[in-house]
Amino acid sequence: MILPTPALEVRDLHKSYGQLEVLKGISLAAHDGDVISILGSSGSGKSTFLRCLNLLESPHQGEIYFSGEQLQLKADKTGALQAVSNQQINRLRTQVGFVFQSFNLWPHMSVLDNLIEAPRRVLKQSKAEAIETAEALLAKVGIADKRYSYPNELSGGQQQRAAIARTLAMQPKVILFDEPTSALDPEMVQEVLGVIRGLAEEGRTMLLVTHELNFARQVSNQIVFFHQGLIEEQGTPEQVFEQPQSERCRQFMSSHY
Ligand code: ADP
Ligand code: MG
Repeated sequence: MILPTPALEVRDLHKSYGQLEVLKGISLAAHDGDVISILGSSGSGKSTFLRCLNLLESPHQGEIYFSGEQLQLKADKTGALQAVSNQQINRLRTQVGFVFQSFNLWPHMSVLDNLIEAPRRVLKQSKAEAIETAEALLAKVGIADKRYSYPNELSGGQQQRAAIARTLAMQPKVILFDEPTSALDPEMVQEVLGVIRGLAEEGRTMLLVTHELNFARQVSNQIVFFHQGLIEEQGTPEQVFEQPQSERCRQFMSSHY
């Protein structure tokens, strides 16, 4: 049997901050339509891992592949791996979307301008085309009426929905979410989870760091549990939630779920 090429594959990823080795050899593959939730205690390396995939942080060792094509990296004089060219970075950042805990909308631009900026500049879309796509995406995430508002005029939940729409506007093949609801007031968490659930149902390929364990269990087809920079446990939601093999994973589940 020939296995399909993963949308994203990582082999033996390592990352240190000074003497502190934060990622100690992470290997993971996401196939088309996979929704992989990454769980683990604070400090276990979840954010660093996601950020390395997008080269927001530079790994020190390892290989990253998108649709079978290896990301070309070379070590700088500190030993950190950098993209070989800006073109490579641009390609990467269009293929892989990133949704931050803190939304990171551009504060000086309207919501609509936040959505059309990168498609126009990077994807070379016409203004009319970018606006048409942006308006459809804002409607999809339920904030069409906010298109001329500025980020500080929106609630946290609305800002995060705008940030997700902005990510979708780049037509990424894979979307990375780093605790997308952690900065939100409790009453706004569900509206954002609802949008992410819709994307999962559309068959989007996603990696999601979250502490919303019920949600992770419902939307993911794979759960990965990080501990001290390594994958300690991995499996289907049923396996990891109901029959965790490692004691640490068992403890984490029982204290958070
Ligand atoms: P998680 O997202 O699982 O909470 P992180 O990836 O944020 O974990 O952090 C993993 C470890 O790396 C922690 O010990 C953290 O203090 C450290 N770390 C993260 N970012 C930096 C940085 N920019 N400089 C130094 N240490 C960092
Ligand atoms: Mg984190």
